[in-house]
Amino acid sequence: MKELEERIRLQGTVKPGNVLKVDAFLNHQCDVELFDHMGAAWAEHFAGKTINKILTIEASGIGIACVAARHFGNAPVVFAKKAQSINLDGDQYTTTVYSFTKQKEFPVIVSKRYLNEGDHVLLLDDFLANGKALKGLINLCHDAGATVEGIGIAVEKGFQGGGDELRAAGYDVDSLAIVESMDPETGTIEFRS
Ligand code: 5GP
Repeated sequence: MKELEERIRLQGTVKPGNVLKVDAFLNHQCDVELFDHMGAAWAEHFAGKTINKILTIEASGIGIACVAARHFGNAPVVFAKKAQSINLDGDQYTTTVYSFTKQKEFPVIVSKRYLNEGDHVLLLDDFLANGKALKGLINLCHDAGATVEGIGIAVEKGFQGGGDELRAAGYDVDSLAIVESMDPETGTIEFRS
């Protein structure tokens, strides 16, 4: 998606440790119009699929998924939580994920009330790097007996391999911008064409 690539070139900054910072429009300040265009792009890509639920993970996935849901017949958006809370009552599906940005393990939790057998789920997230967060969401869907219909990602860092692993495993992964390389010294960002 050219619009997203242009925004990354314009406002993205490359940090040491293979981190791309896009706080100006995705991870801190949110450009809702851009989110809307992203939702439209995923809706076009997944047009042939039956999708009745969108699953994402807190925090940055939530805004993107809620705007995108408008393009999927207002499908309910469920976000996996990353910490236990007294608000999380009843039975839960839980798994553990290693965080690329925080460099530690954290739980990923969804109430059994909101992820069910027979659900046809679109997974959405802001970034795909090594694929750990998505594998956690896929595990939750498997535990629930839900079908993963596809995976929509805003920014995939192609050089970290998570996206290609998921594609090789048979998942339909639609990443709107795939960064092939990025250089913290020069700030140069190359996209997969
Ligand atoms: P993965 O689990 O695929 O290794 O990493 C994906 C998760 O880590 C995303 O949910 C995202 O929050 C975070 N993440 C990974 N790489 C980056 C990055 O370069 N920039 C930002 N802002 N978040 C990232």
